Amino acid sequence: MDDAKRRGRNQVGVSGGSTPSTPGPSLEAELRTALEVGHLRLHFQPVVDVSVPGMASVVGAEALVRWDHPRLGLLSPAAFLPLAEETGQITDIDLWVIEAACRWLAATPEPESGALHVAVNVAGRTLVDPRLLSTVRGALHNNGLAPRQLVLEIVETRSLADLPGVVERLGELRQLGARVSLDDFGTGYSTLAWLKHLPVDQIKIDRSFITALPERESVALVRGVLALAAELGVEVVAEGVELFEQLEALREAECHLVQGYLLGRPEVEPSLATRMVGTSPVG
Ligand code: C2E
Ligand code: MG
Ligand code: MG
Ligand code: MG
Repeated sequence: MDDAKRRGRNQVGVSGGSTPSTPGPSLEAELRTALEVGHLRLHFQPVVDVSVPGMASVVGAEALVRWDHPRLGLLSPAAFLPLAEETGQITDIDLWVIEAACRWLAATPEPESGALHVAVNVAGRTLVDPRLLSTVRGALHNNGLAPRQLVLEIVETRSLADLPGVVERLGELRQLGARVSLDDFGTGYSTLAWLKHLPVDQIKIDRSFITALPERESVALVRGVLALAAELGVEVVAEGVELFEQLEALREAECHLVQGYLLGRPEVEPSLATRMVGTSPVG
């Protein structure tokens, strides 16, 4: 991972300098430019309610960032977010995503969009950045959205415990009326112990647990998380649902909010209409 990062920084961006040995701009510098000139893109993946058998009604969409790189093509988050985390550029990216995602939802035609939410991913260091609250407030206000239409998914690569003021900040966001979600639940630092301390509205069960469904241990884990979440009044979303068997196992466990390729891939203009969901993938 570190090697890949270093390689990426040194090799990418050799862009026709005067001599072959002249290094081009670093990926870091290119990323700064990308933000300024507007080379970042958002894809949106539907979040659906499957409580009615055979039906999937869209309740919102998650904004996922991509970098439309002039030479390298469309880059996935894995190709540049680790570097952005390291350099701190992640916060500028996250703040841009919040504004762009809210603009997208506001521009999505009614009546579909009025009841929908848009979810954005927020890194730990963005969560504690002093600009976050005013960006959220501004994005909601400028686009005429109800605060609960914005969900902030906290994606953590380091321990949130290392960041001072996290609990307070989550409280402030919720006081604005925005909703807070704990992403990739069950992995890394986002564990059961955290739920007791963090004021959140939603948790997203990580894809690694969904992939193993309907295996018995995974069913038990999903049921356990749902029981605890119900106790705490927290909503649960299962992410990475690819197979109908996985969906069936989730339905049986009464997990009604799901996201995954079976229900819809991330797209520039996703379909937000209610769809049928059968035994073969849709879309
Ligand atoms: P995430 O927030 O957990 O998002 C889900 C990821 O799983 C997305 O990958 C999505 O395309 C992918 N996915 C969704 N359904 C399925 C499925 O059924 N099967 C499989 N195999 N994959 C599925 P993506 O777009 O590559 O994003 C990866 C991660 O990058 C995100 O994971 C999130 O942690 C991070 N990320 C994306 N956009 C942003 C952003 O704007 N800011 C920050 N801080 N992080 C972001
Ligand atoms: Mg997410
Ligand atoms: Mg996730
Ligand atoms: Mg993830």
